[in-house]
Amino acid sequence: MERSIETQVSQAVDVWLRWLPRWEPSTHRGRVAPCRRCFGSPVLSAAGLGADVPHGVQHGLSTRMKTIVDHAVAEYTSRNLPMLQAELDQQAERNRARSYRPGEGLEPEFEGMPMDPDPLPGQPFLFTISGLAEEAAADVPALPPLSDEAKAALRQEVKLADDYANMVGREVCTVLLHHRLRIQAAVGQYVEPQIAAMLEELTRSLDAPFDPRADPGISEP
Ligand SMILES: [Zn+2]
Repeated sequence: MERSIETQVSQAVDVWLRWLPRWEPSTHRGRVAPCRRCFGSPVLSAAGLGADVPHGVQHGLSTRMKTIVDHAVAEYTSRNLPMLQAELDQQAERNRARSYRPGEGLEPEFEGMPMDPDPLPGQPFLFTISGLAEEAAADVPALPPLSDEAKAALRQEVKLADDYANMVGREVCTVLLHHRLRIQAAVGQYVEPQIAAMLEELTRSLDAPFDPRADPGISEP
């Protein structure tokens, strides 16, 4: 018997809450482009994780919720949408044929994150992880073409799968509303003090040039 969406969301929030105390602000340069999974996500607004919360904190939760939706849609597709299922099986087979799959098997905190940092202007990378992954994908032969009727039928099934995903997504959001308080309490306990400390540090380093004791040009006696 499949666990209900309510149970799955509740358990995923539990796991995320157990992970949260290990979160630390990242020291590397921030990405310029917003994350496609997290930016404007209705799941994150239902959870009360707004734009003021660091992306690393959001991403682990939005990915866990996406996994629940994906799993429910996969179940639905395998039971009700034979053409789409056949298409997905073929794609999965193609994926297995790829020699290099750096985006698979990652922890939810990293899954779906950009694989490479933003290049600095005028300093392109010699190679990137995503570039290597694209090359490996290009080596796999293309799927046989579909007839127009098959394409139309497939499009119809894709739409049904899409509708189902939206329905499950809304259900996930409704359930998350009930977890807002404990999510916010944990953010207040583990995330906000670290951000406050970072801001304090930043303020101190900005003040430093005006503080003669902190002048890096003068060595301590
Ligand atoms: Zn994200």
